[in-house]
Amino acid sequence: MNVLVINCGSSSLKFQLINSETEGVLAKGLCERIGIEGSQLVYQPAGGEKEKSLASMPTHTQAIKLVLDALVNEKTGVIKSLHEIGAVGHRLVHGGEKFANSTIITEEVIAAVESCNELAPLHNPANLIGVRACQELMPEVPMVGVFDTAFHQTMPEKAYLYGIPYEYYDKYKVRRYGFHGTSHSYVSKRVAQLEGKPYEELKTIVCHLGNGSSVCAVKNGKSIDTSMGLTPLEGLLMGTRSGDIDPGAIEYIAKKENLSLEEIMNILNKKSGVLGISGISSDFRDLEDAAFKAKDPAAIRALDAFHYRVAKYIGAYVAAMNGVDVICFTAGVGENGPETREEICSYLGYLGVTIDPEANKVRGKEQVISTPDSRVKVYCLPTNEELAIAKATVELVG
Ligand code: ADP
Repeated sequence: MNVLVINCGSSSLKFQLINSETEGVLAKGLCERIGIEGSQLVYQPAGGEKEKSLASMPTHTQAIKLVLDALVNEKTGVIKSLHEIGAVGHRLVHGGEKFANSTIITEEVIAAVESCNELAPLHNPANLIGVRACQELMPEVPMVGVFDTAFHQTMPEKAYLYGIPYEYYDKYKVRRYGFHGTSHSYVSKRVAQLEGKPYEELKTIVCHLGNGSSVCAVKNGKSIDTSMGLTPLEGLLMGTRSGDIDPGAIEYIAKKENLSLEEIMNILNKKSGVLGISGISSDFRDLEDAAFKAKDPAAIRALDAFHYRVAKYIGAYVAAMNGVDVICFTAGVGENGPETREEICSYLGYLGVTIDPEANKVRGKEQVISTPDSRVKVYCLPTNEELAIAKATVELVG
């Protein structure tokens, strides 16, 4: 079955058309600046050139219409008619406590996702706009929602409760939810396959290191803890997000700088992390260039803090699982940053981790990067959230 996978944001939309039998991508691309001047469609058929075309996209419906037109286009299209799309899989960010699994999208599901909007005000409403637009253009095609939070719903209470009055959990469901669940689930399953071991018997730590980063402890096939929380702001230092910070610092800075809560949150989300510490960039390529080539102290400081925080979380999750069999690095930096992996693993000697420098040169490919005598196996393992969404969609649609 061909599954159209949609990841819809407020002004952009990424798509892939995936054949679920071959797991091949037939075409992929994105719509940028939806509803803004200068919008464009980037479209790439399998084996073909990437095409960029300026096109008016006042609404998400218009953007998806352009995507569908491109998919059936006589010259560059990859299917003859829209009937060849068997289902649509939507990435949905926050399913709260309501969704522990992917689900077929119905009106009730949409209402339940809307009730989680307050928990992810930037993401959920935009995701649902994508769902509505697809429903409008493909009313007969079944749609499935795959949640970033669902995989983490197996976390025990002791991992998801914050140390604050219980009434805030009771009344408002303030707790750890965790994100990147589709990626953590895909990578932890894939590594079990590669190891030839039952998923239910492995202790895996997945380090999803991209612009947004999180670590997840997967024990016996279940997420038992993860570093992001109620929102994707908690945990690791990220490109622009602070990760863990003493809440007392927020009040202190607010008073010193005369800032409102909104202004402080904006700083913690958009001006912090490695960008904030370095003052150079949120992009790890820029930072690595500055740190390794120019020996820029600010870039070195930011990367040091990033590596240290990841290593600290790995240590915490080894304790939470009473051991670890495999550590996986995934996402933009995890897959493509040998230096990042090496620096993080340099903290893990106490676990008996040793990295093979030759194997660790790998970028964007599945590979064991530890030595044969390393007590814990370490992998570079590219994530594939789109394929995971397509598979979950087919499982439900049948
Ligand atoms: P997102 O959270 O936006 O999905 P990605 O997983 O695409 O992020 O990761 C983006 C990050 O990956 C950027 O900081 C980018 O610099 C980094 N990255 C991509 N390629 C490389 C590379 N070859 N070396 C180091 N970092 C890389």
